[in-house]
Amino acid sequence: MSIVKIFINAHLIDGKSNHSIPNALIVVEEDKIKYVGDYDETIIQNEGNADTYDLEGMTLMPGMIDTHVHLCMGGEASTFSSMVLDTPAYAAIKGAERAKQALEVGFTTLRTMGEKGHIDIAIKRAIEEGIIVGPRIVASGKALTITGGHGDMFPPEVKIDGIGVVVDGADEVRRAAREQLKLGADHIKMMATGGGMSPGPGTVSQLTIQEMEVAVEEAQKFGKITGAHAIGTEGIKNALKAGVRTIEHGTFLDEEGIQLLLEKNAYLVPTLAAFKTLKYGRDGGVPEHHLKKVEYYQTAHEANLKRAILAGVKIVTGTDAGTPFNHHGENAYELECLVKNGLSEMDAIKSATQLAAEALQLSEIGAIECGKIADMIVVAGNPLTNITLLQEKEKIKFVFKGGQLVHQNNVLAEELERKSPTYVS
Ligand SMILES: [Zn+2]
Repeated sequence: MSIVKIFINAHLIDGKSNHSIPNALIVVEEDKIKYVGDYDETIIQNEGNADTYDLEGMTLMPGMIDTHVHLCMGGEASTFSSMVLDTPAYAAIKGAERAKQALEVGFTTLRTMGEKGHIDIAIKRAIEEGIIVGPRIVASGKALTITGGHGDMFPPEVKIDGIGVVVDGADEVRRAAREQLKLGADHIKMMATGGGMSPGPGTVSQLTIQEMEVAVEEAQKFGKITGAHAIGTEGIKNALKAGVRTIEHGTFLDEEGIQLLLEKNAYLVPTLAAFKTLKYGRDGGVPEHHLKKVEYYQTAHEANLKRAILAGVKIVTGTDAGTPFNHHGENAYELECLVKNGLSEMDAIKSATQLAAEALQLSEIGAIECGKIADMIVVAGNPLTNITLLQEKEKIKFVFKGGQLVHQNNVLAEELERKSPTYVS
């Protein structure tokens, strides 16, 4: 006998339609969605013995997807502490807990974007083998960066296992990309420009078009995707010209860059949550050189994002969780930021569900649709009238991954049973 779950009286946001559906009926059989539509007594009767959830006053929507996280960092004021002091083994243990925190707030899929010690690939495997509970992971392994580039922070005498692998020239890019894929990476992350957290200007171009083309070629051979960290105008366009699928941050995006995003059918991941660094960093001990840069970025970043949204660029949710004060488990803050910058509540939810799934080439998830895998969450209330609801942990009532209930919000029981440590994550 197959396991069937029936959801009645749901306010349904399916992740793809422009309108929600009141009083929807959803039937899940094993790991798949079997029926989505109006209430139908005969369908319920035909299912016989099923678990029934009455979702009066609640919204059912796809599990959310955060397309940009770093599990080896925990929002510390300076990433140097986690980079230097955490061995990859310890980072993996912390990273597993951080991934679980995202799952519990309704994020059923995470894409990692550069991890020390390939911890993301290990965490993914442990989740898939049922050793630990966690979201689906689309893993990067290490990010490809040039000598002295973003992510290559330490002098060569200091042996630190950082988030990047240093590559100079097309052959080294090819080798490093193949190495990530060999170890189990699902996509290749590249550094197209400098960045906020490493010394030096963030706007300068780093990997060349020719170098990035090689990584794109290697990824595509295996049906995998690519993403590029890109702050500066030229670097953004270099990545797009090389065929990179997702542009991360996109701060100094110009008109030509917007046209390239549209032409190439690429995606923009604006990672607005990363500006938490500014919000809390001055009192919180974030290094001054970092704050200065991020301050300079923010105005341009938001103005250019608004232009991209108006031009119809596909915007995808990604938080850069793990960067200073940008804590895991607060992932839904990004949706609030997207709404503040011009997306409707519905479009913000799509950016975290169907569009994100599309960007990551995950055709089986991202929407509540017949035949899709049942990654779904139940939220008390209606996030279309208040997007910040999604940030309230107690409002995320049920989280299902592949049809299985993986988290239930029962605060009392949770407090009694909670054995997890309380370190800063
Ligand atoms: Zn990042």
